[in-house]
Amino acid sequence: MKLIDRFNRTHDYLRISLTDKCNYNCIYCNPNKLNDKLSKMDLLSFEELLRVIEIFAGELEFKKIRFTGGEPLVRRDIFKFFSEVKKLKNKYGFKTAITTNGSLLKGRVSELKISGIDSLNISLDSLDKNKFLSITQKDEADRILSVIDEAIENGYSPVKVNVVVIKGVNDDEILNFVHYFKDMDVNIRFIEFMPFGSNAWERNGFMSYKEIKNLVEEKYSLSVLSSDKNSVAKDFQMDNYPAKVSFITSISEHFCSTCNRVRISSTGKFRLCLFSEGKHEINFKKLFQKNYSNDDIVNELKEAIKHKWEKHPEPEELIEMIGNNMMSIGG
Ligand code: SAM
Repeated sequence: MKLIDRFNRTHDYLRISLTDKCNYNCIYCNPNKLNDKLSKMDLLSFEELLRVIEIFAGELEFKKIRFTGGEPLVRRDIFKFFSEVKKLKNKYGFKTAITTNGSLLKGRVSELKISGIDSLNISLDSLDKNKFLSITQKDEADRILSVIDEAIENGYSPVKVNVVVIKGVNDDEILNFVHYFKDMDVNIRFIEFMPFGSNAWERNGFMSYKEIKNLVEEKYSLSVLSSDKNSVAKDFQMDNYPAKVSFITSISEHFCSTCNRVRISSTGKFRLCLFSEGKHEINFKKLFQKNYSNDDIVNELKEAIKHKWEKHPEPEELIEMIGNNMMSIGG
């Protein structure tokens, strides 16, 4: 059985936020330093998460699950949990991915690989030691670069490096990124800065994918790669170099018409879109407490998906309506 909405979009990709907490306080993601304010959250337990995955993969034929956050690797015993997920993977055949800042992966990438995570995205917004510190509040640029090397050595191919481009913050480093990674098995993914209630998004901090791409092409030539129909990225191969360059155009050219994604927040709320307010949210924790069967839950999900909007509103409108931030929804 498949999870299909009113616009005939089949959903088979689940993004799970494992925690709201993060060991970084990135200025654009967590400007209000929520880490300092979060009380102990009522997170989904690993048992509950495994049941969620069993429902999506087993009942609704989901093909991909991504773990994100907050910082997913701050959860205790996370590798043990991934090993349990691996058993479900072997049973149902879905793929797994993680988006992480990489900080806690130092010396542990092989463990991540063995625990069954197929694909690895590491966020890195500056190559410059001081700028990295001013963005993340941690002096760890070199550490993350060494984790990227470790990931390549351990066979993540390609290692995806996420760079959120913000004008006046790191747009001067776009070519440096391409230059630095061009000879490596890396996919550099330039992400358009997205508005959230708390991150002071302004048109003048925004840089569109076309501007970013033009800048890259001043120095390097790119050949278009065919992307998966549900892909959120426009993918390019660098001519004469192994690295790939992609652009995530969430704002300038949204990809809602082919959206195949749904989300679960760290506390178990089902979300139809990164930007949706959650009027039709299902709370998995509550359903589990009420002893709903898997069939009951599937019925709830089929009802909820009917309310998925055709596309998300324009940025200015999003700023007004979104009080939430990436940390609680999961980026
Ligand atoms: N802590 C992990 C990490 O650093 O990758 C996972 C969570 S983070 C919220 C996931 C991704 O969302 C990161 O690549 C981050 O750069 C991106 N992100 C956060 N806020 C964003 C924003 N306002 N616009 C675009 N991307 C954003």
